[in-house]
Amino acid sequence: MVRVRFAPSPTGPLHIGGVRTALYNYLFARKNNGTFILRIEDTDQTRYVEGAEEYIFESLEWCGLKVDEGVREGGPYGPYRQSERKGIYREYAEMLLKKGDAYYAFDTPEELENERKRAESGGETFLYNSSVRDRMKNSLTLPEAETLKKVETGEPYVIRYRMPAGIQIEFDDIIRGHITVNSSTLDDKVLFKSDGMPTYHLANIVDDHLMKITHVIRGEEWLPSLPLHVMLYRSFGWEAPLFAHLPLLLKPDGKGKLSKRDGDKMGFPVFPLYWPYGETARGYREDGYYPEAFVNMLALLGWNPGTDREIFSLDELVAGFSLERINKSGARFDPVKAKWFNHIYIQRKTNNQLAMEFREILRTKGYHYDINRLEILAGLVRERISFVKDMWDETSFFFSPPEAYNEEAVRKRWKEESPAILNDIAGVLGTTEDFSTESVEEKIKNLIAAKGYNNGTAMHSLRLVLVGELRGPGIFDIISWLGREETLSRINRGIEALQGR
Ligand code: GLU
Repeated sequence: MVRVRFAPSPTGPLHIGGVRTALYNYLFARKNNGTFILRIEDTDQTRYVEGAEEYIFESLEWCGLKVDEGVREGGPYGPYRQSERKGIYREYAEMLLKKGDAYYAFDTPEELENERKRAESGGETFLYNSSVRDRMKNSLTLPEAETLKKVETGEPYVIRYRMPAGIQIEFDDIIRGHITVNSSTLDDKVLFKSDGMPTYHLANIVDDHLMKITHVIRGEEWLPSLPLHVMLYRSFGWEAPLFAHLPLLLKPDGKGKLSKRDGDKMGFPVFPLYWPYGETARGYREDGYYPEAFVNMLALLGWNPGTDREIFSLDELVAGFSLERINKSGARFDPVKAKWFNHIYIQRKTNNQLAMEFREILRTKGYHYDINRLEILAGLVRERISFVKDMWDETSFFFSPPEAYNEEAVRKRWKEESPAILNDIAGVLGTTEDFSTESVEEKIKNLIAAKGYNNGTAMHSLRLVLVGELRGPGIFDIISWLGREETLSRINRGIEALQGR
């Protein structure tokens, strides 16, 4: 039975790298008919941020990643918020103390600082390890009675793991393969503090064990902690889960970890949703991305399907997913590609769906149109847009006549005969009953042919007076949509404004 967990700490908005970790856990769980667990790791009270937990729930929900067991869902191994499991960890810390694999340490911050300075002045980094612990103030150096007295009288302490010296710690990572680390490079990490709270390492291992986690799938930044975690499993005598450490998400130039600053600089979000607290941050949802497009894009940042196929629904991702196809090297984030994914998902929507979304945008601008009118516009511009909000840029001239005419276009395209041509076109359209695109096209083309007008001049002049510049969808589509009255009014206004130019 596969059981995996996403174990974020509520310290701020969830980075898209975190969402990708959640996604891979979810895909792996679904693929193996397993269970996807959401555990909130909030033991570090100093880093707790109000609103962050809610943000995590909402982000997963938006992405369609349904949690099987968690804070809100409940489940047989709860509670799923570590601060509510406080009472559990102490006994496990004590188990290690009893075994001699952990010890109390009473060193004050000043004493530790002095040691650090001493090491640094000798050009070394300070590690509280086997060569240091013997001269520090801890239960290994103090008489037992004194240790007991200190603990009982409430002197501040931490419980440290007693990392053995000079052994080779060997383990496997599904993505990175076999790894060997010499324990002498590791320090005696703090597992428990006298405030009654475990550190990340202890709580994480105990909970993964108690929650029967089979696979730990998490970011590469936790790989350095893995030797300690492996040792903790051994000390407890527990079977360790399998580990898979995911590659980093890199900046667009591939140099270093993707950060909020990169997004701010280059104009893309690095968070799934808008973050409204303190230093605000933009989100993919509010930027107009569809969750399907966002999830599809994220899935391919680090995992490859083994073919060059790029478009996958969540179910298709589940079907194709495997940890073996996760890349070792970092995944470069490409903001242009992100937009491309949304563009593709736009093409999969019906005109009606796009029109419904666009109607909301128009409402905020004070325009109210029937849905069938907007569906026509959606059909005209859908291939050029990556977001529904782009529809406004592509179609704004449909909703109000030009206030000015593009100078350069006028200079290049407005000819002496333009007013005469437009007057003739206005005359023909004035008597045209059927205002379908095909019908107005036929009428106007016949006129141009009969009078021997220059087709380019006619089309450019018409576009200039209807749009104000030389852009937009097919001119006959524009005329058909505007209708007789509006088309004639724009032609007349244009002639008046540009006459003599
Ligand atoms: N709480 C850790 C984090 O915020 C979890 C790491 C893990 O999955 O073990 O990333």
